[in-house]
Amino acid sequence: MTAKAPDWVVAWPTLGFLVADWVAEHCIIPDGWLKGDPFEMYDWQLWCTANHYRVKPKARLGQLAPAFHYRRSQVIAPQKMGKGPWSATIICNEAVGPAVFAGWAKGGEAWDCRDHGCDCGWIWEYEPGDPMATHWPTPLIQLLATSEDQVANVYDPLKSMAKHGLLASQMRVGEEFIRLPNDGKIEVVTSSAQSRLGNPIIFASQDETGLYTATNKMIKVAETQRRGAAGMGGRSLETTNAPDPSEGSVAQRTIESQRPDIFKFHEQAPSSLSYTNKAERRKIHRHVYRGAKHIDLDAIEAEAAELLEKDPAQAERFFGNRMVSGAG
Ligand SMILES: [Zn+2]
Repeated sequence: MTAKAPDWVVAWPTLGFLVADWVAEHCIIPDGWLKGDPFEMYDWQLWCTANHYRVKPKARLGQLAPAFHYRRSQVIAPQKMGKGPWSATIICNEAVGPAVFAGWAKGGEAWDCRDHGCDCGWIWEYEPGDPMATHWPTPLIQLLATSEDQVANVYDPLKSMAKHGLLASQMRVGEEFIRLPNDGKIEVVTSSAQSRLGNPIIFASQDETGLYTATNKMIKVAETQRRGAAGMGGRSLETTNAPDPSEGSVAQRTIESQRPDIFKFHEQAPSSLSYTNKAERRKIHRHVYRGAKHIDLDAIEAEAAELLEKDPAQAERFFGNRMVSGAG
């Protein structure tokens, strides 16, 4: 996709480019200097989107999750990569965008927003042989995090996208949930508010799964939620910093899973590079932050260097994207 990422080559059918274009049309940059501008995915975000929406060449009309190459995705990336806003765009897409496989194009077909409850007039024409998409009829979506504070990583950008721009005509932001067309809903679940667990959902966004452990009972919560989605033909997305391998977290269990139908994104620099050596740390950052053109490696170095003084393991997990144990 770019010279910087020669191994990120999409050579299989996917709805990912339609999804990314739909996102750029409908989702805004939720904060910062460019707030309100179209959300154009960074290369790493586009790569993960293309994979999450990769379609099996033999997918048949009517198949839900089984139409996709991956049953679920796990994205492990360092601080400031833009995981939360990207998760929010995927949630928007599952809510009202082109998320469900809808057969193969013969030629002349298009995604026309007017067929999907949006009067913006946007049209995306399929090439013959492309996988096509439709929206979920009743989109019930859940967002999971350990605490209210953690929920904000994804829920804040999501609320911003839902309130501003084109999505405001289809999404209504409430105190505890976002209302969607056709009795659809986006709900928040935390370790202290699990009453909605077990609801039939079509998508789950599980954020900071490196913090879901047996101690805080979040392993069971995450697995119950995934089962709820699987029962509806839905899928899920895990996002997290590199986990501490001594904690046995949900993130680690996913990393260790041998199942081939989980997309795992976890860029790692060569292990020969030492995180405590400044020059080598620079190389590690250059490696793990690739595909994120907004990142200033000097700013990352400054933050990493300060955290290294107090908690070197956490610095290496947060900014080096490495699974290392210990908390200082
Ligand atoms: Zn539209």
